[in-house]
Amino acid sequence: MDYVESVVDLVGSTPLVRLRSVAAHVAPLVLAKVEYFNPGGSVKDRIAVRMVDAAEASGALKPGGTIVEPTSGNTGVGLALVAQQRGYKTIFVCPDKVAVDKRNVLKAYGAEVVVCPTAVDPEDPRSYYSVSDRLAREVEGAWKPDQYSNAENPRSHYETTGPELWRQTEGRVTHFVTGVGTGGTISGTGRYLKEVSEGRVRVVGADPEGSVYSGGTGRPYLVEGVGEDFWPSAYDPEVADEIVAVSDRDSFAMTRRLAREEGLLVGGSCGMAVAAALRVAERGTADDVVVVLLPDGGRGYLSKIFNDDWMASYGFLSTSSEATVGEVLR
Ligand code: PMP
Repeated sequence: MDYVESVVDLVGSTPLVRLRSVAAHVAPLVLAKVEYFNPGGSVKDRIAVRMVDAAEASGALKPGGTIVEPTSGNTGVGLALVAQQRGYKTIFVCPDKVAVDKRNVLKAYGAEVVVCPTAVDPEDPRSYYSVSDRLAREVEGAWKPDQYSNAENPRSHYETTGPELWRQTEGRVTHFVTGVGTGGTISGTGRYLKEVSEGRVRVVGADPEGSVYSGGTGRPYLVEGVGEDFWPSAYDPEVADEIVAVSDRDSFAMTRRLAREEGLLVGGSCGMAVAAALRVAERGTADDVVVVLLPDGGRGYLSKIFNDDWMASYGFLSTSSEATVGEVLR
């Protein structure tokens, strides 16, 4: 019989899909590593498994304990899947800009969700960092993985995402482009690819305009899961050769094109990463293989990026151009 013990065994080994339509104008082969094929629907399943394994091994997480983490949703889903299988409780703290759909997903997996204001300093007692610190201190048996400083975050990418990409491209990848949030993906995958290729692979980070990685001050932007207003230790500043800043407008426009033209219903940070990858590919040749990592699926963003009224309310879309079939035939 062909089965796995639990969905946790299905984490990783995600496919590479060629971007044909949105990359039609560039010379390099552009391939997307589609992370929504993970059982929890995002790249974060990879780090969840490793962080919990390590905490069990070190004794930081004890039987019946509670996992407390600030997360924009995806890390929470990964942690919730692992927690369920191993008998832990989960409490997740997220900023209020995170879509309601995403918070409801966490609750569906059995987690408790605490929502905090986005527009306050990280040091503010109301910030999601502060609130999660306090819960981790005061809830009995609590353990906070802290994806921002946990070495298992970049390590999981060094040990899984990087080797998968090298194998899947038969060592022909020349550029790796990925969004930067905690920095785990770029630091672990990027480091592996640089080592295995002896420095030949160029590593490019994609960042929302306003975030610190591309020289911003941390001013608010709408793309979720990427960019920071501080420098996390999971981010290794030596790995990226270049950081490309992408506006919310360009990120969301590309996200919508990925759904309509490539059949990839993905999140806003995917559109951001692809927009950056295409800027890189526009400078490349037919010998180049540009791989871009797409962290999650688009279902959590139906009421935002894929909602014309929401897009129009930020001036990203003019609704007047969209007529319904009924209006056309009247
Ligand atoms: N996109 C989304 C939707 C995410 O949730 C995350 C994780 N915060 C990222 C991109 C960035 O990945 P990393 O934290 O590894 O830099």
